[in-house]
Amino acid sequence: MADAQALLAEAKTMGLFKPQAPFEVHCANCHARLDGRGDCATCGLIGRSEAEIAKRAQVDPAGTAKVLQAAIDRRRAYKPAGRERSAER
Ligand SMILES: [Zn+2]
Repeated sequence: MADAQALLAEAKTMGLFKPQAPFEVHCANCHARLDGRGDCATCGLIGRSEAEIAKRAQVDPAGTAKVLQAAIDRRRAYKPAGRERSAER
């Protein structure tokens, strides 16, 4: 299992942290519907602040690493609609 702190740093360089208002239901990045925690299952955006995740990593390193890894994988798999289309076709 990858280290939560290393994943935290990686997620930060990928720009995955984007705290959203609690009432926000759509992703600020891709406009897909957010899940109950404010995270985006489509592009991997994490709707909480880096500080909050870092605090969580202290009490639950394994669980936090899992959340971060999932977000990073989602962002890697995510293709922004209409931006890279010309490169693909
Ligand atoms: Zn999104």
